[in-house]
Amino acid sequence: MATTIRKATRAQSKQHNLRLVLKTIYTAGEISRADIARTTHLARATVSTAVAELIDDGLVEEVGQKPSNGGKPATLLSVIDRARCTIGVDLADGEFRGGIVDLRGRVRQQESVRVIEMPGDAALAVIYELIDDLLASATDPVLGIGVGAPGLIDMRNGVICHTVHQDWSGLPMRDLLQKRYELPIYIVNDSHAAALGEYTFGEGIDKSTRNLIVLRVGPGVSAGIVLGGKPYYGDGFGAGEIGHIRVVPGGDLCLCGHTGCLETVVSRRVLLARAQEIARRDPESKLHLFAGAPEDIDRTGIVIRALFAGDEAVRLIVEEMGEHLGWAVANLVGALNVQQIRVAGRMSCFDDALLRPMRQVMHESAHTVLVNDTEITLATLGADIVVQGVAALLLSHEMGLV
Ligand SMILES: [Zn+2]
Repeated sequence: MATTIRKATRAQSKQHNLRLVLKTIYTAGEISRADIARTTHLARATVSTAVAELIDDGLVEEVGQKPSNGGKPATLLSVIDRARCTIGVDLADGEFRGGIVDLRGRVRQQESVRVIEMPGDAALAVIYELIDDLLASATDPVLGIGVGAPGLIDMRNGVICHTVHQDWSGLPMRDLLQKRYELPIYIVNDSHAAALGEYTFGEGIDKSTRNLIVLRVGPGVSAGIVLGGKPYYGDGFGAGEIGHIRVVPGGDLCLCGHTGCLETVVSRRVLLARAQEIARRDPESKLHLFAGAPEDIDRTGIVIRALFAGDEAVRLIVEEMGEHLGWAVANLVGALNVQQIRVAGRMSCFDDALLRPMRQVMHESAHTVLVNDTEITLATLGADIVVQGVAALLLSHEMGLV
């Protein structure tokens, strides 16, 4: 018995050392064996054994010599970016997007399918096809598959519990994918994934606080929250689901069944309806340049173009949405005191027209001490933010890299 435990402990500590050495090389970019030993406090021999195994596994390579001052020059090691890859899928409203992502979060290949609202079974067939295609074209060993989906996701059981925009409730996505692909599968809320993606691979992230909120504004509104460098999911995996908080007492009926939710004043549906109203009312509206008839205003892109063409009425509705979002951010800042807020999603393309009123209302609606150091900026990852986010989740869970 004691021998079995000793053996198990030895195997665990070997595994631990391997991960530690790999993560140290990954974080450093290029580093020598001696510096790994200094950073990790592992014995030189332990580091050399681990490095030899990582080179054998094709994860690490020698990339050159470190300039030395006199002694024998040390060999530098680096993680091979394409040693493994992950398959990421974003089940966005209107478009399923998949990608092959390398160990540095770069999307090496991207594929997307336009979808209209569809029940779980039909959606699943499309997802299978998308993943089949990506797997067939992956040239590097695949670490696993991650799926970012809207709504409440029970991550423990890999089940989509509830979505407002799609009828997928109760879909046991993880088991179904695991059975078909026999790879590690992760199912996560898309906004949680986006926040982790931006935190891990985004530009200019101040990692000294290790906190970040990514507000996604598109079909709906939700926030992804990273606290202490880890995604914060909440007790029931619903952290950041702010789209259905009542902001207009006695307001319009929401898709969720309540009235006056944030999504009744900020969402793609509302944006398009209000833009159509403007176009109907005003024959001079710039919207007419980009859509034949008011009812043809069916994409956010048309409204974005009208804004940048100088349509004042469009600017006003975007600013009003920014004000509502600013109030939501003030509440998040009041609750969490996170200073890095980034905005993602299709509507982030409105840029300053949306962000300026957000900043202003946040400053007016939360404690000055809290908001003075809080910055609202655009997310630096683009349309693949969820695909890159689920890749980060896989790299964290499967390899301990991020
Ligand atoms: Zn609602």
